Order: sequence, then structure tokens, then C-alpha cells
Amino acid sequence: MNTTNKNLKAICLFCGSSPGVDPAFKLAAAALGTTFAQNNIRLIYGGGHVGLMGVAADACLAAGGEVVGVIPKKLMEKEVGHTGLTQMHVVGTMHERKALMTELCDGFIALPGGYGTLDELFEALTWQQLAYHLLPVGIFNVSGFFDHLMRFLDHARDERLLRDAHRDSLIVDTELASLLARMRNFVPPNNEKWLDRAAKENIV
Ligand code: AMP
Repeated sequence: MNTTNKNLKAICLFCGSSPGVDPAFKLAAAALGTTFAQNNIRLIYGGGHVGLMGVAADACLAAGGEVVGVIPKKLMEKEVGHTGLTQMHVVGTMHERKALMTELCDGFIALPGGYGTLDELFEALTWQQLAYHLLPVGIFNVSGFFDHLMRFLDHARDERLLRDAHRDSLIVDTELASLLARMRNFVPPNNEKWLDRAAKENIV
């Protein structure tokens, strides 16, 4: 797994398998795909050809970029997989998929999405919190889609169920260029100290 993030040569995208209602979501997915291609950032994603996932992958490919899909066999058999990618990894399970996507990338970005997107986003954050990886996790907050969720995370922090450092480690931006710049400068939270103290206080 890559633990350096400064170069951001490959970014894993989590986003809806549906297009959503707001046209800004599709525009943002397309802009992200094009920007990745223009900046030689390889797009790693769930391998689908549906929804915002398909829009981002198609835009990246159309602009000459590299797109790598990681899809479980079951989804591939349902023929929702993209057939024109640079490379497609077909794996056995959803867990294998997330582990391989993490191995292949230097950071994560979430666009609007549903349960699948939120599951992937929070797993990436949980793994960062536990120092299984030290990669930046960003949200491209299109049309304020994630505003309510950010308020909920503030609430979790205020209720002392989420540490300040871990709340702050999530990078949220409404501009893609600024999001990428902040991800490049990401400094991982000092999890070792947290884990030591947590172990002492018997809370892990
Ligand atoms: P959701 O946000 O619930 O639409 O789920 C989207 C996320 O889950 C994506 O980032 C994918 O990794 C995964 N996913 C869900 N549905 C599919 C699908 N039909 N094809 C490929 N990946 C999917």
C-alpha cells in the first residue's frame, strides 16, 4: 500500500451508482474525470458503468486518462461493469474490493452517493483513524450535498465520540483544484499516540 500522498498519482473515487437529481452532480463527476486525466492522476473506482461512477470513468477515458476498476464477481456477472477501462480487477468479495482499491491509490475522494459511497468513505476514514493507511480522504462537496453529514460529524465530535484530530482529518471542499491541493499537503493525525492512550484508558 502507498503511504505517501504528496504525489497523488492515483486516487480512488467513491460515488453514486445513480446519477442523482441535481445536474451539478453529473457535471462534477465529469469535471473530476477530466481533471484527473489532465493531471495524470489514475482513477481507481468501483468499476461500474452506471450513475456518477460511469460519468467520471467515461470523462477520464475520453480525456486520455487511465481508469482502473475493482469490481466483485457478482456485480460483474450482473453486467453493470464498465467494459472499456484501462484495467479491470474482478475480485471475490466486497471486502477484497475495498482492500485492493486502498492498495492501488494514494488518496480517496467521495462525490455524492448513497449507502455504498458512505460505506466506502467511512471505511477509508476508519482505516486512517487506526493507521491502517495514512492516505488523505477528501469530499468534493457538490451543491452542499454533504452539509448535513458534516453537521452530524460535528455533533459526534461535540458528544466526544469522535476525536478533534479525526474530525479535522476529513478534507472537505467545494472546489476540486483546492481539494486536490489540500490532499497533497495532508498530514496524517498522530494515531500512535491516540492508540497508546486509548489502550491505556482501555477504550479500544
Ligand atoms: P451507492 O452510493 O449506494 O450508489 O454505491 C456506490 C458505491 O458502491 C460505488 O463507489 C461503488 O464502489 C459501489 N457500487 C454500488 N453499486 C455498484 C454497481 N452497480 N457497480 C459497481 N459498483 C457499485
